[in-house]
Amino acid sequence: MQFLSKYSLKKYHTFGTDVYTKCFTEINSVTQFKDLLQEDIYKNNAILILGGGSNLLFTKNFNGLIVKNNLHGIEIIKQDENHVWVKAAAGENWHQFVLWCVNHNYGGVENLSLIPGCVGASPMQNIGAYGVEIKDVCEQVNAIDVKTGEEKTFSNADCKFGYRESVFKHAYKNKYLIASVVFKLSKKPVFNTSYGAIEQELKAMGVIQLSVKAISDAVINIRSSKLPDPAKIGNAGSFFKNPEVSKQKHDKLKQQYPNLVAYALDNGNYKLAAGWLIEQCGFKGKRFGDAGVHVNQALVLVNYGTASGSEIYNLSQQILDAVKNTYGVTLEREVNIY
Ligand code: FAD
Ligand code: NAP
Repeated sequence: MQFLSKYSLKKYHTFGTDVYTKCFTEINSVTQFKDLLQEDIYKNNAILILGGGSNLLFTKNFNGLIVKNNLHGIEIIKQDENHVWVKAAAGENWHQFVLWCVNHNYGGVENLSLIPGCVGASPMQNIGAYGVEIKDVCEQVNAIDVKTGEEKTFSNADCKFGYRESVFKHAYKNKYLIASVVFKLSKKPVFNTSYGAIEQELKAMGVIQLSVKAISDAVINIRSSKLPDPAKIGNAGSFFKNPEVSKQKHDKLKQQYPNLVAYALDNGNYKLAAGWLIEQCGFKGKRFGDAGVHVNQALVLVNYGTASGSEIYNLSQQILDAVKNTYGVTLEREVNIY
């Protein structure tokens, strides 16, 4: 196993800031990870498991060991007339996995096309887009205790999935390496096109017969036209979560700001579009040196080139303060800060 010292992380995370880790290694199998647990360098350092680096911001150099997860493999483990259970290893690229499902005509993850990162991180924040979340298709998460090497299986309920949340982001943060995820996909998919932009795009594409592939293509088209490509402009997607407020708070805000963008939730509360709140505070398209707020989507903070992690973090704090002062709403960062 190779350990690299004072290793640059620039190409390992999508913000592309110039940071270093004290030590860096990669794992290609579960056995290799278990062997790693016995190494002094592993026992004596803070550990960070890294996937595609598309949901984190380093505000300083990482003073520990980064373990890049390269576990690969996609296999069908069970099927019946209506469903197929597919196990994907954590290091598989998420979008390639989605395309694999689309090519097999298995439904369930097509709305999640083009999300960067790896399969292993997908349960971490219960990735979601266009009305679909991992919790809708995740049957089981196979993980390894990072201290003892013990293997543990989490059912969907064990994962305690919530809005961009799971047990792995809180109680079990940094406690388990997610090694693989089992997805229950449909051979007779029920399509979810209720997010406005999808139907519009399908129409523009001239789609008459809905299919897993048509929806995936529509999502790819929308995302490509709207979101910054991390290969060109550093970013980690939405920097903040959409905040949830009570009906009372929503009604008060709506009276004051009739254009407020909000969605009623099943629990009686409302989800506010954080992008709208940030835009109204005047941040959309603003640039502070090389740290900025994207011109098309105010939820996305960007690195135009040489911004540091702390500059991006400070900008996020300015935004938090402005939204709090103007609307009395506290935004929460979605991106993992290190
Ligand atoms: P990383 O950034 O490498 O890691 C994120 C966290 O998970 C870290 O804390 C890390 O330690 C932990 N982790 C990673 N792998 C493992 C593992 N195997 N075991 C244990 N812990 C692990 N997210 C959405 O939900 N919906 C979207 O639509 C979406 N769109 C995006 C668009 C863009 C342009 C970008 C840049 C990001 C977007 N994201 C979106 C955020 C991000 O892509 C997802 O959260 C993705 O799942 C992160 O995967 P990753 O492999 O890059 O994780
Ligand atoms: P959008 O379609 O412009 O919508 C803006 C916001 O309104 C979204 O955040 C979405 O909430 C919410 N919304 C829209 N239609 C809705 C509906 N019918 N019911 C409930 N809520 C609705 O958003 P966008 O920026 O282009 O993103 C499209 C999708 O991709 C969203 O689902 C978004 O979450 C996802 N995305 C996520 C990231 C990330 O890093 N997490 C980055 C880019 C895109 P939700 O966010 O709750 O869906």
